[in-house]
Amino acid sequence: MASRYVDLVEVAPRDGLQNEPVEFSTESKVELINRLVAAGVRRMEAVSFVHPKRVPQMADAEAVMAALPERDDVTYIGLVLNRRGFDRAHQAGCKEVNYALVATDTFGQRNQGTTVEQGIAAYREIAEAAETAGVRCGLTVSAAFGCPFQGVVAPERVLSILEQAAGPDPYEVGLADTIGVAVPTQVAELVGEVRRRYPGAQLRCHFHNTRNTGIANAYAAVQAGAQALDASLGGIGGCPFAPKATGNIPSEDLVYMLHGMGIETGIDLDQLMKASGWLEEQLGRRVPAMLLHAGNFPPAVLQA
Ligand code: ZN
Repeated sequence: MASRYVDLVEVAPRDGLQNEPVEFSTESKVELINRLVAAGVRRMEAVSFVHPKRVPQMADAEAVMAALPERDDVTYIGLVLNRRGFDRAHQAGCKEVNYALVATDTFGQRNQGTTVEQGIAAYREIAEAAETAGVRCGLTVSAAFGCPFQGVVAPERVLSILEQAAGPDPYEVGLADTIGVAVPTQVAELVGEVRRRYPGAQLRCHFHNTRNTGIANAYAAVQAGAQALDASLGGIGGCPFAPKATGNIPSEDLVYMLHGMGIETGIDLDQLMKASGWLEEQLGRRVPAMLLHAGNFPPAVLQA
């Protein structure tokens, strides 16, 4: 049963920028985040606390967090991959962290130096520390549909990982198509099964548009019961450790589709498009999002 409201989780400041060749200053990152908040975004992956040598674009995570206005109605999520990352996120004031557990050993070792088994142990340690600290901890299974090194990932593998890692009652379960290989039938099957097994959990999905199936996958996920979707402004992004990975699904294209379907997001689409135009200027190139170039519909002059 499709939800009438979808929680859009903006990932441009993290997944988006981490793969951009153009270096973003701390001030520009903060401005990007503030523009997103002004457009109505209330949840976003703002920073990641990974080793600065591995992802130099995210080395200023503490400075970004310190410069963000504290608001009760906005959640800045920090991506963490180990206990050290969690401690940094907590100290920097993150009220929510997300741990990405890679579904296959090869990609897990390349991406973050952990096998699936080690990933499960790391998540449990972080989730426990988070509970003690009063920080919300979400779990995302990465490469949940396919792995660049091991091929198609079967739903049973993802379900087994969730069973081992998340316990009976997780607050949120995320499924990520990190390398953009999934198709809608696959998404409907896995999301539907996770929905059945964890009726109390919030279900979040993360799609990349590498093979142009991202928006179709988002549609399938919503129809199958996902309540939160990750997307990046302009569709920027990728993954430095996944060969040929491209951007996330574009936020403005997603919001256009959802609003047209009568699904609310709380986002002001015109403001979001203005933010995307600003982002293009900063990057000095055309962003992959299509709405920005095609224009909103119906145009404002016809809406009065
Ligand atoms: Zn991603």
